[in-house]
Amino acid sequence: MSTSKQRQKWRENKQKWRDNNRNSGSLQYFNERARYLNKRVKHHYGIDETITGLQLISLYRSVNGRCYLCGDKVKPSEVHFDHKHSLKNGGAHNISNIGIGCGKCNHIKSERSLDEFLQVVFDQGHPQKIFEHLYGRNNDDK
Ligand SMILES: [Zn+2]
Repeated sequence: MSTSKQRQKWRENKQKWRDNNRNSGSLQYFNERARYLNKRVKHHYGIDETITGLQLISLYRSVNGRCYLCGDKVKPSEVHFDHKHSLKNGGAHNISNIGIGCGKCNHIKSERSLDEFLQVVFDQGHPQKIFEHLYGRNNDDK
């Protein structure tokens, strides 16, 4: 027996399960992200190398879910996987070239190199926390 009400309920449960996965950053969720990332890279750059969900979740956990550029906490569902050395400029699609990024930093960095990123950040008003995060606090200011 499968009434439309039951099907509706089933669909809701499936959606709930998906949302939970997304928010908790389960391996399942990172596998999904990896699949999508690999597909995009293959499509845009014809690159066959792949990254696994396990590599992504390990990276995420190793940095305590913090953006590698500004140090802010990023929820799994809001993580941007940044190719530190952009693919467009010859960077590799492997885990050592991936940084956990927040939306804000990723938007600015885009395909820029780290130097170019810092230049833009500097031009746009010098958010101290990015420099502090990348180069450490300046103790002379105390
Ligand atoms: Zn950031």
